[in-house]
Amino acid sequence: TALLDGQYAVITGAASKRGLGLATARLFAKHGATIAILDLDQDAAKAAAAELGKNHIGMACNVIDHDGVRQMMDALIQKWGRVDILVNNAGITQPLKIMDISAKNYEDVLDVNLRGTLYCSQAVIPTMRENKSGSIVNMSSVSAQRGGGIFGGPHYSAAKAGVLGLTKAMARELAPDNIRVNAICPGFIATDITAGKLTNDMQSSINAGIPMGRPGTADEVAGCALFLASDLSAYVTGSEVDVNGGSLI
Ligand code: NAD
Repeated sequence: TALLDGQYAVITGAASKRGLGLATARLFAKHGATIAILDLDQDAAKAAAAELGKNHIGMACNVIDHDGVRQMMDALIQKWGRVDILVNNAGITQPLKIMDISAKNYEDVLDVNLRGTLYCSQAVIPTMRENKSGSIVNMSSVSAQRGGGIFGGPHYSAAKAGVLGLTKAMARELAPDNIRVNAICPGFIATDITAGKLTNDMQSSINAGIPMGRPGTADEVAGCALFLASDLSAYVTGSEVDVNGGSLI
């Protein structure tokens, strides 16, 4: 059965072909949602939306541009009448060690992952409040929980830990309005971030640290996003859901 019939979803950073955002968009569309894909490049966003079928929308949007985000969301709300689901998926990482992080590195990583999550949420909360209904899903990372991963630097861990704090604070404040806010902490997932950058030896040693013995897939993260976006999780808010093959056991 379709879990998101008639619902309107905004997914940021969802133009990347092998990314978690587009996999989530595909699954949501299959479950009856109408999707807006927001990403940096207009053509890529439009192409990704077209791939989902008609009625879906792709738009250029930089999640750290406060006014731009507001305008995008207002245009969508004007067109759709509402936004039911927001997936804050846009994120960047930099494989740096503590002493190599410059002010610009820090700003870039904190901005996209954390400031972007706040701005996009602020832009949809009023319509969700009006409807007394909404689900916000934030992409954090196992890096927040473990203090690092294969590709993330300490500033990435800090940003994603910040996403967890923001998720819980928003969940607490918005619960009376029946707006649920949850975070997903993916472990090591095979996407463009990782593709072609690992030797076989590196891959084997990563797999050895994962109880399930393999990386996750984008579809496996999308499944969790569908659960959190839909009424299947109607009483779940403020939670962080691990999708990591047992990496924290
Ligand atoms: P990806 O690089 O394939 O996709 C990220 C997308 O975000 C890209 O399309 C990019 O253009 C977009 N983006 C970057 N900056 C943006 C901005 N300022 N405004 C709008 N869009 C912007 O990455 P992915 O692997 O699909 O990761 C998706 C999310 O999941 C990220 O938040 C990432 O940190 C998180 N994550 C990924 C993994 C993994 O193993 N792949 C693990 C844990 C968490």
